[in-house]
Amino acid sequence: MVPARRAPLLFEALPELERHVPWIPFAHVPTAVEPCDAIADWLGRGGVFMKRDDLVSPLYGGNKVRRYEFILADAKAKAARRIVTAGGIASTQVMATALFGRELGFAVRAVLFDQPVTEFARQAVLGFADAGVELIFGGGYAMTAWRAWRALRRDAGNYLILPGAANPLANLGYIDAMFELAGQVERGLAPRPDVIVLPTGSSGTLAALALGCAHLGWETEVIGVRITTSLACNRATVGLVIGATDRFLAARAPRWKPMRGAVRYSLHGGALGRGYGYPTSEAVEGAAMVERLTGARGEVTYSGKALAALRVIARSPRYAGKTILLWNTLSTPRPRPSAGAADRVPPSLRWVLERPLLA
Ligand SMILES: *Cc1c(COP(=O)(O)O)cnc(C)c1O
Repeated sequence: MVPARRAPLLFEALPELERHVPWIPFAHVPTAVEPCDAIADWLGRGGVFMKRDDLVSPLYGGNKVRRYEFILADAKAKAARRIVTAGGIASTQVMATALFGRELGFAVRAVLFDQPVTEFARQAVLGFADAGVELIFGGGYAMTAWRAWRALRRDAGNYLILPGAANPLANLGYIDAMFELAGQVERGLAPRPDVIVLPTGSSGTLAALALGCAHLGWETEVIGVRITTSLACNRATVGLVIGATDRFLAARAPRWKPMRGAVRYSLHGGALGRGYGYPTSEAVEGAAMVERLTGARGEVTYSGKALAALRVIARSPRYAGKTILLWNTLSTPRPRPSAGAADRVPPSLRWVLERPLLA
């Protein structure tokens, strides 16, 4: 495993940023880029690669890690004592907050909204309880928002991380990741991708990768596989995140040329099914393919749907002969719940341990 680094590539490319932007190393980078040979038969072709951000930290990988190098550093700089966040019962963000927050000595309070109960969700809730997260059941989206606001205002020293944390500071993590990929391409470790595919929710990661490609002058199309409703994730919402991140960089780093017009991305809505977190048969199959690629089973909210979409894209005549890169955003390392974890789950969330599993 590569050790955590001393400074992000971003600070080399845009040195003025370092004065304005707090940063703490968590990521063990560069993460590998490798061919998806294990599932070439299932994809119906070769020329598909994977960026192994699932292994970006031995503690917990996935796409929250690079983002948290900036926002947890910001929380430290602001002398916060507790991180308050919200997410679904299977939330990878709550898990990342629990594990990396604890590393930095923060208390963590999380408000969890209802979503279909899968094995992955059940293991997640046990993991949160084990990590000592103060768990509050939020209910539906609106009640969760209200309870998260109350959880934030209840006492002093709290730092809020919204679901997805799609703010410019967090997005710097994936601008930096594009510089990393560019270096790997330059060193001949992988071809420059014509297409990058990743699951997208709050769209922060998608926006940052697309902005990074534009800054590098790459004509790569970044395809966000939508895992939530088009009300929450659409060209207007992604455009807002791109615009905010672009302005954030332009205001702090004179070498960053505003990119907005040059950003190439698209949204793929065909894998969503009934909605956020609901299994589809294609996502269940995709989750099994994640296991063939990484050794750890995928889940149906993000990785399974990303794989389902990847298969459609890989087989589409439009992308015939193109080099495709799947950006793996789901952690392969996962905490194994202790025997006593269930006893630490509060009564309001015990149903997650009892309800029949959907996948
Ligand atoms: C959070 C998450 C995403 C979505 O990232 P956004 O930046 O919110 O769009 C995708 N995949 C996985 C596995 C995640 O945990």
